[in-house]
Amino acid sequence: MQQNYTIPTLPDVQADLDMNGGFLSFWTYWQPDPAALDPEMPGSKLSMITYLPVAPEADCLCGSGKSYGRCCQTLPYRRPVCPDPDLQGYGLLSPQSATFRAVDGAAMRERLMDDVRLYCTEDTPDRVFWTLWGEPALESEYGIICFGDIELRHRRTLVVSAMSAPRMAVLLDLLAEADDLELPGPTVEHDPIQVFDKRTRERRELPPQRAGERKPPGWRRKRA
Ligand SMILES: [Zn+2]
Repeated sequence: MQQNYTIPTLPDVQADLDMNGGFLSFWTYWQPDPAALDPEMPGSKLSMITYLPVAPEADCLCGSGKSYGRCCQTLPYRRPVCPDPDLQGYGLLSPQSATFRAVDGAAMRERLMDDVRLYCTEDTPDRVFWTLWGEPALESEYGIICFGDIELRHRRTLVVSAMSAPRMAVLLDLLAEADDLELPGPTVEHDPIQVFDKRTRERRELPPQRAGERKPPGWRRKRA
């Protein structure tokens, strides 16, 4: 599937990190591109990884409601997380997309252009692209923090991309507000989930089905 996001390569510093002492968190920032004709559009995205130490008795960042010491700390592998929209906690990294076909693209484009939570980085007849910034947009020294993307292709197909289930839920809720436009149900696709083996420290993949994550209501998993 076409991805609107990139999953950055794990930095070498992982060798120095305590594999059982916390999470890696993936961040995406938007920055204006000074070399572009219009520096504000399209701009560029910067991906970063940070290390988040977590005490065993603290709430696990995966959102299970259990303590870290009774949850992800006990796993033989480490799953990265990414911050939820508005920085309300974290979600397990689980790249996914939802595709809506045969949409009223003109009306949807107009609606999304008016949404202050979204920032448009490209606007052509073939492709309109928005990034979820939230309201207010959260600025950092690296740029504005991005929480997911919406792409309108050829004024007919809407593709929503997110790195985690909580992010996807927020994006789908945002689209659901335009219920008068009668969006058809989406086709949802999940990518394999990258994890890091705690023993070998190497990257490996889990199939999406093993994510064990809650699915937002109204979701349909595409049949293979
Ligand atoms: Zn956990």
